[in-house]
Amino acid sequence: MDLAYTEEERAFRARLRDWLASVLPTLPARPDPRDWPARRAYDTAWQRMLYDAGYADVHWDAAPTIRLIFLEETERAGAPYVGANFVGLLHAGPTIAVEGTPAQRQRWLPPVLRGDEVWCQGFSEPDAGSDLASLRTRAVRDGDDYVVTGAKIWTSHAEVADWCELLVRTDPDAPRHRGLTWLALPMDAPGVTVRPLRTLAGTAEFAEVFLDEVRVPAGNRVGAENDGWRVTMVTLSFERGTAFVGEVVACRRVLGALARAARANGRWDDAVLRRRLGRLNADFAALWRLIQWNVSEAAAAAAGRGASTAPGGSGGVPGAGGSVFKLRYSHARQELYDAAAEVLGAGALDAGHEWVADRLSSLSYTIAAGTSQIQQNIVAERILGLPKGR
Ligand SMILES: Cc1cc2nc3c(=O)[nH]c(=O)nc-3n(C[C@H](O)[C@H](O)[C@H](O)COP(=O)(O)OP(=O)(O)OC[C@H]3O[C@@H](n4cnc5c(N)ncnc54)[C@H](O)[C@@H]3O)c2cc1C
Repeated sequence: MDLAYTEEERAFRARLRDWLASVLPTLPARPDPRDWPARRAYDTAWQRMLYDAGYADVHWDAAPTIRLIFLEETERAGAPYVGANFVGLLHAGPTIAVEGTPAQRQRWLPPVLRGDEVWCQGFSEPDAGSDLASLRTRAVRDGDDYVVTGAKIWTSHAEVADWCELLVRTDPDAPRHRGLTWLALPMDAPGVTVRPLRTLAGTAEFAEVFLDEVRVPAGNRVGAENDGWRVTMVTLSFERGTAFVGEVVACRRVLGALARAARANGRWDDAVLRRRLGRLNADFAALWRLIQWNVSEAAAAAAGRGASTAPGGSGGVPGAGGSVFKLRYSHARQELYDAAAEVLGAGALDAGHEWVADRLSSLSYTIAAGTSQIQQNIVAERILGLPKGR
């Protein structure tokens, strides 16, 4: 792996930096985080600006170094967060890019890049979270359609999504991992009901989704029937391996702001707090190195330059190394916002403060996209080669 930047990559960075400096001051204020329709409009408008300026395809098509430069520069400049486009851009889109037919890629990928369509993820169910393979939502083939009935939960952005990457059971008699299928569900299909759930932070960013005999065309199936577990592992590899990459840069930006705030309000005199901030700085620097390794090794494998040396990586899909990243990142993020509360002192009781809201949402990071215990199991089994727990 060569992490040195070429002249062309340095030129890309300079061009992007200039473009960001010219457009960011022109953006309207970000909408209230509790108003998801307004957030969708804002996030997709930003995606459209990236598309028009030729920066939209960096997540899928560009060289890994270009992708890292893009994420680094946009976060460093404080550009809008990927937000409502998270699933479409960072794991449904990449899954379709790897597993979809040419027609499916043509149908679904350009609208995500243009910010025209938003995706959500319908994997978890009330009794199927960590143990995803126990899911019960049924899809029965009827002519050219699947007829889907069941319930999903914790579906982020469901309220504002056009499409859902949906995992269903198509063969109830097969061993539980072998009877699943990955479908693209149109969220406006008759029989889809979305009921928002309120989070600790006061936002309704996820929802329950009820599916009552919803007809989904068989052409919306990505991968073969009953091969959905394998396709889902591709989705989860992108979700854990690369989807949170930009947020590491954002955390480093917050860390810098914490140090400045601590200097300004006198908290910097506390040696314990200073050590804590220093250790977090080292943690986030190490996480960035881990990202560079995971992303560039996966891309090298995709380009046919031999198998990825990242643990478990192959064919452009991040490997089990993504679980190492997800495990450490989600804890470091919580520690960062705990430190923010220390810096804020009594100000940590102000629910309107950006850092306080982010502290509340950081609690979910060790659960969403697979809990820390599950990531530890993956690291133990697939990287360390320890025996399976069960
Ligand atoms: C903010 C947020 C957004 C989310 N967005 C989505 C979304 O968009 N789409 C979606 O499909 N899902 C989403 N989820 C759901 C998420 O993927 C699940 O909550 C997660 O997989 C855990 O499943 P569970 O809640 O059923 O907990 P459980 O599986 O019931 O786990 C409960 C506890 O038991 C532990 N545990 C379970 N099994 C094992 C084991 N084998 N070994 C060790 N420990 C174990 C877990 O680690 C956990 O601590 C989201 C969750 C959150 C918090």
